[in-house]
Amino acid sequence: SKLIQDTLERLSTSHDNARIWDDSQGRWFTHNELLVRTGQLATWLGKEHVQKGERVLVAGSNTFAFVTAYLGVILSGRVAVPVHADATQHEWSRLMEQSEAKAAVVTVDTENGDALCREASMHHLPYIRVGADGVLLGCPLMATSKNSGFAYEIDDEAAAVMLFTSGTTGRPKGVTLSHRIMRANADNVIRSHALTDADTAYCFLPLFHINAQVVVLWSTLLSGGQLILQRKFSARRFWSTIAANQITWVSAVPAIITILLQTSGPVSTTTLRFVRSASAPLPANTLRQFEQRFGIPVIESYGMTEAASQICVNPLPPQPRKAGSVGLPYGVELKVVNDQFETLPPNETGEIALRGQSVISEYAGGAGADSFVDGWFLTGDIGYRDNDGYVYLVARKKELINRAGEKVSPREIEEVLLTHANVKQAAVIGVPDAVLGERIVAYVTVHQAMLVSDMRESLNKICLELLSKFKRPSEICIVEQLPTGATGKIQRLRLRQEILKQQD
Ligand code: ATP
Ligand code: MG
Repeated sequence: SKLIQDTLERLSTSHDNARIWDDSQGRWFTHNELLVRTGQLATWLGKEHVQKGERVLVAGSNTFAFVTAYLGVILSGRVAVPVHADATQHEWSRLMEQSEAKAAVVTVDTENGDALCREASMHHLPYIRVGADGVLLGCPLMATSKNSGFAYEIDDEAAAVMLFTSGTTGRPKGVTLSHRIMRANADNVIRSHALTDADTAYCFLPLFHINAQVVVLWSTLLSGGQLILQRKFSARRFWSTIAANQITWVSAVPAIITILLQTSGPVSTTTLRFVRSASAPLPANTLRQFEQRFGIPVIESYGMTEAASQICVNPLPPQPRKAGSVGLPYGVELKVVNDQFETLPPNETGEIALRGQSVISEYAGGAGADSFVDGWFLTGDIGYRDNDGYVYLVARKKELINRAGEKVSPREIEEVLLTHANVKQAAVIGVPDAVLGERIVAYVTVHQAMLVSDMRESLNKICLELLSKFKRPSEICIVEQLPTGATGKIQRLRLRQEILKQQD
């Protein structure tokens, strides 16, 4: 496959930037070391009779060991099923069954590593542990490992990874991404961000998820840049890490951008070309504040597992980026359709549909067939394009509130609540109402404890001022926390279920 050939070619080209920093080890690993170690894993998979095309669980966090394991599986033509380093035994065994895995690779940085290996052995799966230096535990590393066992010949349509969606709107859906899809979208990311071998990427978003895999890992490997791996985001160490490693770009999520606003910022002129934000809505105000305070462009992007991450992205300066917009479609076709699947003109709101080289044509196991119409994938996201073609996301179809026949987007109300300086997170849902069908209820978490009645009063005032009557929440509740999924997104539908259960 082109993905394998291009990656191996890049990794074999030695230059000063051809290396990966593992923060938990406090050391660099060269691309050559990566090649030898992935080769060792490829050889092991062959010895254990794991066939090409078969799925292999890969557990770990953002470490060199995990990168070795993940790449070793894919470059050898097997299908990687990445698993969170904190996965419980229960989650692990469910994944094992769902993916019909034929082997397991567990890095030493995996929380329950021993238990996961025992579980694999109970299921009669061959398993191996990968040490912090990427070398298989208990196996001597041989120089001949290099270039052995790589599947140059594998088809572009063959599966490379099997992932699961974040489960924000229901049970996570299995998604199989081919070599072609991964290569196509890595290329979209490289070109839209103008990545070269002079870039240094900073990776703290979890690598078990598509965003970090394609947007950071593959794009960097395929453009020959340097990679800084960190297990968990740290606001305290953020700017010093940027300065120490001359990092040129960062892939973040809105929550991180918000946290960074509370830091004092870069100490001197920064090497950062931009900060990228994706995966959840970035309030326009947060973007503006960040750019004003730190003088670093924030590039908002729209992505999803089913499209190997990036779909739309705002252009780099000097091209205009628009606050509140997820940017322009890049390398994919996008249209906005109504319920009859008719294409809508600019400024009209409907469901976003996609088509292209980096978009799946079915879910794993054939679920969700109604998401695919005439070769288009219906995203479940509601939005519109402006006259310049910029895309704006309004809501998720499943989360729209139907208040007396009026469709209300929770997001619009949440953004209004978030303009209050003391509101940390907001989630708005519709709950059954005898008169309205659904009435709007808002839940917020706060930065600092405040008298509940005062807080409610000031929020009501903001809503009164900024929202038309039918959009105003009939109730605002201040809570300790809101339910979030593995990738940190607020789960409105789960919140709704919990609330309804309490009322029963
Ligand atoms: P599930 O499909 O299981 O309900 P999920 O859709 O959250 O979960 P992902 O594939 O991780 O799973 O996320 C893709 C979704 O994230 C998109 O469909 C979109 O709703 C949302 N999203 C991504 N980027 C943005 C963004 N910049 N602004 C708003 N929403 C975004
Ligand atoms: Mg989804």
